[in-house]
Amino acid sequence: MKQSQLFTRTQKEISKDEVSINAQLLIRAGFIDKLMAGTYTILPLGLRVMKKIEQIIREEMNAIDGQEIFMPTLHPKENWIKTGRWDSMDDLYKVKDSSGREMALGPTHEEVVVPLMKRFISSYKDLPFAAYQFQNKFRMELRSKSGILRGREFMMKDLYSFHADAGDLDAYYEKAKQAYLKVFERVGLKNETYLTYASGGSFSKYSHEFQTLTEAGEDSIYVCERCRIAINKEIIDDLEHSCPECHEGNLDEKKAIEVGNIFKLMTKFSAPFDLKAKDENGEDIGIVMGCYGIGLGRLMGTIVEVLHDEKGMMWPEAVAPFKVHLLSLGENEEAQKIYQSLVEKGIEVLYDDRDTSAGEKFADSDLIGIPYRVVVSKKSLASGGVEVKRRDESESRIVRTEELSNILK
Ligand code: ATP
Ligand code: MG
Repeated sequence: MKQSQLFTRTQKEISKDEVSINAQLLIRAGFIDKLMAGTYTILPLGLRVMKKIEQIIREEMNAIDGQEIFMPTLHPKENWIKTGRWDSMDDLYKVKDSSGREMALGPTHEEVVVPLMKRFISSYKDLPFAAYQFQNKFRMELRSKSGILRGREFMMKDLYSFHADAGDLDAYYEKAKQAYLKVFERVGLKNETYLTYASGGSFSKYSHEFQTLTEAGEDSIYVCERCRIAINKEIIDDLEHSCPECHEGNLDEKKAIEVGNIFKLMTKFSAPFDLKAKDENGEDIGIVMGCYGIGLGRLMGTIVEVLHDEKGMMWPEAVAPFKVHLLSLGENEEAQKIYQSLVEKGIEVLYDDRDTSAGEKFADSDLIGIPYRVVVSKKSLASGGVEVKRRDESESRIVRTEELSNILK
């Protein structure tokens, strides 16, 4: 894509009320725009990142046999009354239409997915299976100071699994745990993300969160470096201050953000909707469920919080909006040829063909944070090619134009 055609622009200064690093950098670089506290428009560069994150998650959910669906945002009040959450969930947005009918804006989808599956499950032979979606969730968050880490409207992947018994749920839960670790590895957060023991509510001893270390995080976790796991501070008392795996007491307290979680729901939501199946003997069995969430916007914001320097963002290749940022410093004819040849080879390029100063192009390139920067200038051409630098390197090197695509492949 040619940068001159991008309708967004970078900004040097943004509103002072935006305090989080993720929102500051993403807004300045033109990846997102703030509509009001907790709600953001995703702009072209940001959407390219979101779609890559979405695709990685989709591949990993499909690999554990998740079937993709898309459920509505507007939910009937009756379903939320049935589970008790119409009254108990503080952050539920409630809306009323002109006839006085009340509805909820979905903050999560158990109240939709369970009655849905009543139509399709009758026997144990219909089990197990899992369904998931990517969908905007609505939550009346009071603290909305963390940019896209905590939105009032935000994109989530939520998967729900359905099982005939707890043993089957346990086995699937372990598969989901591994799939989650793969997602965080693929988006570039492997080293910073810890499988974290959290309180499991009433059914199991623990649930698991995936917590990424960052000062921007709202949670405190205790990390066991040896086992590469952590414990949420909120439950530390139960664990008597030792690692639940190696039982050593060497735990480091760190700030972190929850990027995903997995939870055994057991029959908490199947029971109120009377979701049952017949077993081999024709007896009714209550269906056991698990739920598994990842916030896509939060994940994008977390990547920015973890991977940036004083000049801007530093996207991992797997989720970068483009792989290459091609900068023409007054050599548009040569740069255009290079742009064309890279695009033909299937390499994603943002081509800065704008009529602006070299200083501005370099600063914008560092801010946007595309993994490879390729500069075409009189100087580079005189040295026999183009200047190539990775965003995380300090020095560039000259590469012959013919070799460029090999280096970038
Ligand atoms: P938190 O404790 O941070 O409020 P939660 O326990 O309410 O999170 P879940 O209901 O389990 O979160 O949602 C699943 C995932 O959705 C979370 O792991 C997180 O990645 C994401 N998420 C939750 N709330 C928000 C939000 N307000 N904005 C963006 N992402 C969110
Ligand atoms: Mg919450």
